[in-house]
Amino acid sequence: MVKKCICGTCIVIEDSKALLLWHKKLNVWLPPGGHTKDNETPQETAVRETLEETGFHVRIINAESVELITDSNTKEMPKPIAIMYEGVRYEIGAHEHFDMVYLAELDGNESSSVADHEKTELRWFREEEISSLDTFNNVKEVLQRAFTLAKAGN
Ligand SMILES: [Zn+2]
Repeated sequence: MVKKCICGTCIVIEDSKALLLWHKKLNVWLPPGGHTKDNETPQETAVRETLEETGFHVRIINAESVELITDSNTKEMPKPIAIMYEGVRYEIGAHEHFDMVYLAELDGNESSSVADHEKTELRWFREEEISSLDTFNNVKEVLQRAFTLAKAGN
């Protein structure tokens, strides 16, 4: 059995641009994200990883424009825009990601500094640039979906 990990990823869209990182080992642009830690929800993971990797504080947006259900002990969580099952071979030991991909926006304007070991190239891309981006086709498709949902939400 291949090890399976729950992951959280943020597609941050602000001013009609998506925030992506250059992945040095894979040589592709990817949205920020990573593995959940103990006692962390995938949403919390996605927000924490985005802060660590980009320095930006972000807030997850529900992919559907509905009121989330809440009562005393239970609350509905924002829906991911995609749940991707990804085979991973570049990290130590092959494993699989069960990756919750969320739509997010900047939470305030302040950004923190990024730790040296996390430093990588960071860029905001317009929707028109996605089709010619150096990345996987599935990432382009999810980015396209994120742009469409972000526009519908405004
Ligand atoms: Zn992994």
